[in-house]
Amino acid sequence: MGMGTVPEERGMKEIRNVETGAGRTGTAVSEVGESVYLEFESRSHNEQFARVVAAVFAARLDPTVEEVEDLKTAVSEAVTNAIIHGYEKEEGMVHMKLTIKGRELSVEVRDEGVGIADVKKAMEPLYTSKPSRERSGMGFSFMEAFMDEVWVDSAPGRGTVVRMVKRLEERPVR
Ligand code: ATP
Ligand code: MG
Repeated sequence: MGMGTVPEERGMKEIRNVETGAGRTGTAVSEVGESVYLEFESRSHNEQFARVVAAVFAARLDPTVEEVEDLKTAVSEAVTNAIIHGYEKEEGMVHMKLTIKGRELSVEVRDEGVGIADVKKAMEPLYTSKPSRERSGMGFSFMEAFMDEVWVDSAPGRGTVVRMVKRLEERPVR
C-alpha cells in the first residue's frame, strides 16, 4: 500500500461509517450531519485534549469566541466528571462524539463507570458526592448554563451518558 491515498483522491463517501478503535479518532459523514468520535483513557490530562478537540471541530461553524468558551467549559465539566466520578477507582475509556447539523452542535460524553443513582439530585446546583475534595457541585449547572440542552442518562454499575446541544447564532455567509 505504500504511503496511502492522497487526500484529494479520497471522496467523502470513502470516509463514511469509519469503525473506530480504542484511542483512535474517526470521521463519519452523512446527509443528516457530520460527526467525529474520540476515545481516550480516563486520565486527568486528557480533559484538556478533549476540550481542544471539541473547539477545533466547532471551528468549522465559525463560532464566536464566547460560543467556543461555552462549549469548552461544558465539555471540560462532562469529561472531568467521567474521569473523576465515573472511573473513580478504576481506569476506563471515555467516549466523546461531536456532531454538527446545520448550526447545531451536539456533544455526547459517555463513560462505563459507576453510574449515578439519582440523576435529578446529582444535577442540583451545589450537590456533590465529594464535598471533602475541592469540588463545588457546579459541573452540571455550568453545562446547563452554557449549552442549550443537557440530558443525562445513567444507571448504577452501567455508566453515564451526557448529551448536550448548543445552537450557534447565525452568521452571514462569507
Ligand atoms: P464540580 O463539578 O463543581 O467540581 P461535582 O463534580 O461534584 O463538582 P457536578 O459536576 O455537578 O459536581 O456533579 C454532581 C455529582 O454527580 C457528582 O458529585 C457525582 O456524584 C455525580 N456524577 C457526575 N457525573 C458523573 C459520572 N460521569 N459518573 C458518576 N457520577 C457522576
Ligand atoms: Mg463535576
